Amino acid sequence: MELFNKAKLIEESDKGRYVEATDILKPGDSLFSENSFASIPLENFLYKKDYCFNCCKYQISTEQQTSEQPKSTPGFPFQCKYGCNMWFCSNECADGMVHQLECSFISKFVELSLKHDCDASISLLALRVVMKNKVASEVFEQTVGKLTNQKSIFIQNNKSFLDKYSKLFDQVYLIVKSENSELSSIFNKEEYLEVVCSIFVNSFAGLSNNFNRTPISNGYFYKAALLNHSCEPNTFFSIQNSTLEMRVVKDINKGEQIFDSYVDLLLPTIERQKILLKSKNFVCDCSRCTDITENSRFVSSIHCIFCKDETNYISPKVKYDDKTKILKQVWSCSKLTCQFNKKNNNKNNQEFLNILSDVAKFYDFINNDLLFKEEKKEEGEEQIQPMVEPILNRLVEYETNILSKLHENHHCWLLYHLRLSKLFERFSAVFNSFDYLSQSIQHYKEIARIVECVIKSPSSEIIDSYYHLARVNEKYLLSLINQRNNHIKQLEKQKQRDTTIDIDSLNKDIKNLLKFINTTYKKAYEMALICYGNFKPKTLLLNALVEKSNFSSSN
Ligand SMILES: [Zn+2]
Ligand SMILES: [Zn+2]
Ligand SMILES: [Zn+2]
Ligand SMILES: [Zn+2]
Repeated sequence: MELFNKAKLIEESDKGRYVEATDILKPGDSLFSENSFASIPLENFLYKKDYCFNCCKYQISTEQQTSEQPKSTPGFPFQCKYGCNMWFCSNECADGMVHQLECSFISKFVELSLKHDCDASISLLALRVVMKNKVASEVFEQTVGKLTNQKSIFIQNNKSFLDKYSKLFDQVYLIVKSENSELSSIFNKEEYLEVVCSIFVNSFAGLSNNFNRTPISNGYFYKAALLNHSCEPNTFFSIQNSTLEMRVVKDINKGEQIFDSYVDLLLPTIERQKILLKSKNFVCDCSRCTDITENSRFVSSIHCIFCKDETNYISPKVKYDDKTKILKQVWSCSKLTCQFNKKNNNKNNQEFLNILSDVAKFYDFINNDLLFKEEKKEEGEEQIQPMVEPILNRLVEYETNILSKLHENHHCWLLYHLRLSKLFERFSAVFNSFDYLSQSIQHYKEIARIVECVIKSPSSEIIDSYYHLARVNEKYLLSLINQRNNHIKQLEKQKQRDTTIDIDSLNKDIKNLLKFINTTYKKAYEMALICYGNFKPKTLLLNALVEKSNFSSSN
């Protein structure tokens, strides 16, 4: 059985397991496509219609309907009749052997997961894997079964995590045994915990198709788990329902190793390493992680406080202490002879320490301030009005006192633009304000710039940022067209030329903007062709948007 197109799995005692290209690979090539051994919607989608409990297929839209979204068949989705109350897309999904086996245990696992602070999605996926192993043990042994050797390493870094699932299992087992002692024989604690660890390390998250990358499902895949991680990956994966496709995004030579990424590549090295260590049990040593500027990305870099030269930055090298198991950052200026690099200078420099503590304060503000919480939307929007001025003043303060000291690609800047783009877009809707809309556009523009600088190769992050940039500009375009039409009406009424209104220049603005929108959608579409291929929902939607904006720009 060939696992990959133009690549092979190699297992060596010294280098471990890795996947290598056996031929030249080009961006857009499909490395493989595989169905998960088992998939499940994430915790917040359980008991909801949105995604099928078995195959994770998207079923209805809670947002506005568009022609690209799949129509649901009458009578579907429906809720399980046998007591678990989960939602299914089809009879095949609801009546399969695996669900027959798991159905009566589901509510117990969900209830006790909550009680023991376990993730219900993981505990249910592990249950499903164990059950599927009963009916398809051969498939299990030939695929994901080969991945279950994580527990011993896992215990070192995540003992408390495993303890919770261990207690959860004990309780479920007790209840099942008291209700039906025969059924309890199909449960084996060792097996269950092995699977939990393996899922935690090897499962892949499926994302929504709405250009916001909302995680929606968890899938347990085999081939995808065979690829090693790099923060400079040469592949990109996407999951549709319960099928994962891995596609090439960079030129790969014959004999070169193939990598994918297990983490959010927009995060700075220290954050990526923390996540990899906690969830995957390793410290990454790729070229991005070992370079203090992250290969010229500068996502953690600070303007040097000693160098007068604007181009010198203080950046961190992330180091892992094997004994204490702690990750730390050691800072230095890119100019070797800089004062800052003199022995111990950086550790004691008060100005520098203040910047670091300001950055920490900023993270706290941007991640936790109620201003940026989505729930805020549901409250009366009119309450925002008196808040706007103080909010804006506060933001300006952050910009001048903290952000101005950081590199323009710094992760803080990205978070700032992400929050403010949405905030100003909301303001523009509430106050019907042209000015807020154009401010929002500036932030979307910066997001696209930073995301492209940081990710570098085709990815959903870049596609999504182009999509949103084009989308808000479309809103702006509508306002411009309205403005023009109003002016024309005015002129007709007055029957005379008002020299302060320049229709020609408005028309020119409209034309240029249309062109920009079309080009931006096109960039997103071309990247979607590489990342997802031709017939995926996002590619189809972007294609339609390119067509639409192209039609109007020729008019
Ligand atoms: Zn289904
Ligand atoms: Zn059921
Ligand atoms: Zn790395
Ligand atoms: Zn310096």
